[in-house]
Amino acid sequence: GENTKRKEKRIRVREHLQSLENSVSNTDRQRKRKRSDSSSPDSKLKKDSDGTVAQCATGLRNLGNTCFMNAILQSLSNIQVFSCYFKELPSVALRSGKTAGRRMYHTRSQGDSSVSLVEEFRKILCSLWQGSQTAFSPDALFYVIWKIMPSFRGYQQQDAHEFLRYLLDHLHREMQGSKNGSPSPALSPDRPKHASESKCCINGTSTIVTSVFGGILQNEVYCLICGTESRKFDPFLDLSLDIPSQFRIKFTKDQEPGPTCTLNDCLRSFTDLEELDETELYMCHKCKKRQKSTKKFWIQKLPKVLCLHLKRFHWTAFLRNKIDTYVEFPMHGLDMKSFLLEPENSLPARCLYDLAAVVVHHGSGIGSGHYTAYGLHEGRWYHFNDSTVTLVSEEAVLKAKAYILFYTERSDQESPAKL
Ligand SMILES: [Zn+2]
Repeated sequence: GENTKRKEKRIRVREHLQSLENSVSNTDRQRKRKRSDSSSPDSKLKKDSDGTVAQCATGLRNLGNTCFMNAILQSLSNIQVFSCYFKELPSVALRSGKTAGRRMYHTRSQGDSSVSLVEEFRKILCSLWQGSQTAFSPDALFYVIWKIMPSFRGYQQQDAHEFLRYLLDHLHREMQGSKNGSPSPALSPDRPKHASESKCCINGTSTIVTSVFGGILQNEVYCLICGTESRKFDPFLDLSLDIPSQFRIKFTKDQEPGPTCTLNDCLRSFTDLEELDETELYMCHKCKKRQKSTKKFWIQKLPKVLCLHLKRFHWTAFLRNKIDTYVEFPMHGLDMKSFLLEPENSLPARCLYDLAAVVVHHGSGIGSGHYTAYGLHEGRWYHFNDSTVTLVSEEAVLKAKAYILFYTERSDQESPAKL
């Protein structure tokens, strides 16, 4: 029954971890594997229904329900400011002979200094967009992920958004530890945090992760009994937005479809004044007791890359349901000005964002289905479906039921994009 199944799964996980370990430690075998890749059927680029085969793009092989990882990796590879940073890092071998370099990246999660997430992530980014049509196998990275993020072990479908959060968090922590070749004192838990630091960074010193994705929310709570307002700054790497309830109704074929939900509707519902219900009473320091209150989010600082996660998975009594509502999103010129705390302090251009990548979940449940991604590369849109990469039209991208959207800040030099 259930027990045997679980046992079998454990054995499979162990076996796979072992095989990944072998493939990482044995470079010869890796090379052999790469050669055999080119003849394997899944690495051949097929003509997809939604576009023509992309000539310079490289797909990522599915290692068994690893499309959640592939979709995130392909998205991040198209965020130039982020992926260029990693691609320009020297390889571990170059940095300090053969083995010593590995120690420069310190993986803190399990005190394991034999693996480097940063290094494997760098290798993946370097392998994409090199003109090779052979799908790349991300097994070395997956091996590191299994080692440092135990919750992603196994072959079951995972939540791509959760994976993104873990990936960014671990990259951030490893890079904090790599400064000066030794773990940064910023990471030791007993170190007092300075107020100024916690305001602009996620735990401690800034890295490429926080400097690209990091923004700050101001959380305003207002006590409805005494009127005391309290403000708190919350750093964020992404914003998780609800799809407003009025857009969640499913329509049958005979019914008139309601108005289309837009990304602005989701952003507005996120930043709207919200009355907290009885279950989340707020501890008012003036009343000195838990009181009814209202809450409001403002964006105090916008990030360079704005990552928006649409909460499509919701818990009901026993099930995690998917909200399949189409959410309309702009490709050019997403204007964040009205959500800013002090819009007068920012230049107009600083609030405009253009779409760089989209992650889509296909299927009904979080534990099933399939992830793909769209990404903009040198002015053209691509669809990444594991080992298959195709060129697609802007219209095809805009029709997607987005799960995660990556928007990049429009720089001042750029002329306004076509609308
Ligand atoms: Zn009060």
